[in-house]
Amino acid sequence: MAAIKTVGVIGAGQMGNGIAHVAALAGFNVVLYDVSADRLKSAMATINGNLTRQVTKKTITEDAHKKALARIVSAESLDGLAACDLVIETAVEKEEIKRKIFHDLCAVLKPEAIIASNTSSISITRLAASTDRPEKFIGIHFMNPVPLMELAELIRGIATDDATFDAAREFVTAMGKQIAVSEDFPAFIVNRILLPMINEAIYTLYEGVGNVEAIDAAMKLGAHHPMGPLELADFIGLDTCLSIMQVLHEGLADSKYRPCPLLVKYVEAGWLGRKSQRGFYDYRGDKPVPTR
Ligand code: NAD
Repeated sequence: MAAIKTVGVIGAGQMGNGIAHVAALAGFNVVLYDVSADRLKSAMATINGNLTRQVTKKTITEDAHKKALARIVSAESLDGLAACDLVIETAVEKEEIKRKIFHDLCAVLKPEAIIASNTSSISITRLAASTDRPEKFIGIHFMNPVPLMELAELIRGIATDDATFDAAREFVTAMGKQIAVSEDFPAFIVNRILLPMINEAIYTLYEGVGNVEAIDAAMKLGAHHPMGPLELADFIGLDTCLSIMQVLHEGLADSKYRPCPLLVKYVEAGWLGRKSQRGFYDYRGDKPVPTR
């Protein structure tokens, strides 16, 4: 298999900009695409801001910052990704949207290119089946925030071939990440364990066992978690948390994964956490204020 030099990233949200940032710093050329021109523009500004912060902290040089930025170009349509060696899809956690993206991407992407999804929970085998190359399809699940987190999970679909797995492993290693290999089961390893805990924290709030502050303080000080579960839910995005719980609930058919009705209500209100300025905390003022 030809070496990966140019990487396409579909979806310029918090994960897409993190993946583009780290891939460019690692020396890959990056083509970043989003359906929203505004998201694309703000992603480029975020990447620049985050690289600048790394220079200030002396974790990278000014030269590395400049070179990384110069390696990232934005594309106005999927056609701009035609020549990529690897394309990583990291759009919203909705299966129909991802399937449509893969359908449209396959029509333009060179046949030897690998396609990866950064899905948090959806079956890699099922997503692969919506492409023209299931053997060249793989799950590469990065963690948020990508520049700081050490891990990526690698998930083979039923048809993923060894050359694709090896190329993905090499790519993730070049990005400076450790690998955990997961079988293709709903939500893989990290989110199979993490999301039911977050969902349970929301039930704890829903049932009035504690308020937002008490629940987060309990888990930070009582279990030494670096972030409280509700703060973490806001950081991940409540829409993403709900989608993952739905995949677990449907995929494993066990009532223990039932999404908390309060989580559903927050998502229905458009209170999606940090990205919409309001979730279990309100982020519109100087410091986050609990909303319950
Ligand atoms: P986000 O809401 O920040 O960004 C999603 C982006 O996808 C948006 O910019 C949106 O405009 C874009 N988009 C929507 N439809 C599109 C389309 N048809 N074509 C191109 N772009 C489209 O979400 P995120 O947190 O970056 O999550 C993205 C993916 O990464 C999801 O699959 C999620 O499950 C996964 N993920 C998220 C986290 C996390 O902590 N948030 C961690 C690991 C993986």
